[in-house]
Amino acid sequence: MKPATAIIDGKALRHNIDIIKSLAPNSQICAVVKANAYGLGIRRVVRELEDHVDAFGVARIKEALMIQESGYEGKIVLLEGFFNKEELLKTLSRRFDTVIHNLEQLTLLESVADKWQAEQEKGFWQRKTKIYFPINVWLKIDTGMHRLGIHPDQVEEFYRRLKNCPLVESITFISHFSRADELDCGYTEKQIQVFENASRDYPAQRSISASNGILYWKQAHYDWVRPGIIMYGISPHNTPIIDLGFQPVMTLSSSLIAVRDHKAGEPVGYGGAWVSVQDTKIGVVAIGYGDGYPRNAPEGTPVFINGRKVPIVGRVSMDMMTVDLGSDSQDKVGDEVILWGKDLLIEEVATSIGVINYELITQLTPRVLIEYMD
Ligand SMILES: *Cc1c(COP(=O)(O)O)cnc(C)c1O
Repeated sequence: MKPATAIIDGKALRHNIDIIKSLAPNSQICAVVKANAYGLGIRRVVRELEDHVDAFGVARIKEALMIQESGYEGKIVLLEGFFNKEELLKTLSRRFDTVIHNLEQLTLLESVADKWQAEQEKGFWQRKTKIYFPINVWLKIDTGMHRLGIHPDQVEEFYRRLKNCPLVESITFISHFSRADELDCGYTEKQIQVFENASRDYPAQRSISASNGILYWKQAHYDWVRPGIIMYGISPHNTPIIDLGFQPVMTLSSSLIAVRDHKAGEPVGYGGAWVSVQDTKIGVVAIGYGDGYPRNAPEGTPVFINGRKVPIVGRVSMDMMTVDLGSDSQDKVGDEVILWGKDLLIEEVATSIGVINYELITQLTPRVLIEYMD
């Protein structure tokens, strides 16, 4: 009998990469594995995909170090760049690609480069234990998200200064959509136009599309696409994407640890929050908010047991939840319970709880066992 376990299907992961390649055949793929590969386990996901994608993207340098130390020798992109000088020096010695999105990062890079060049000219660098390499910089332009990135008017200056910097090997323009899941709002077209205008005069590669861009904005695939959630077979919005050929990669399951006869009129769980209107059987499932399953999941949120959906009743507790199996239930202690996966799409669960799919998978805690199958 298994406790809360996330089963990761490596074949489905690679299948989804093939779908992405068919959607964006002329683009390279920067597979986004930030936040521990969205909860699926970054090392293993990198190992499964390293021969199938062109780069990996992370949001924290710790994850870049981890995947390089685990043996991956290819391109790693720091999607928010380095946070301080120490991280910049690691970026240079490890040869990571980095985003630069503000003036502070640019001036820090320039000052390190000045010092590096001066030392090189004096021949000091040969004696240094740390060797720095010129790196690829992804210059982030704010095209309308208004979160990170330089103003389009600053592109000329930043580009010139990066070109002049001896620690910069090449420049790629990057931006991010804010409303790419709203197909008729007109905003994405504006962002694409701003990106075009800001970047078209330069001989540089470009990238703007994450999952929604890959699915819905073919004209914006450019040189690099940056898939995150769709690699894992999960929709970037509430409507499932299995119709487009994607396969769910994660199945989150646990087990029934008790099946109890329950009388009409009796409450279940903390606060007596749910009272049965009829005699029934209550199943107790070994997963709770201590595993990252949301405590605020309302009554009626589905789980999948023995070929059917049954509703959660009563409050989700730390280690357990209770479900109404119905009076005819034949379910037994030890039976498998699926919280989401191929049999119960995560989109349905997220909609029922009122969260986004991204939150459900990234909030799983280290207590959940991760198992890989092929
Ligand atoms: C997280 C992230 C992505 C991937 O987003 P999805 O919606 O999961 O595809 C792509 N690019 C950047 C810069 C990101 O931070």
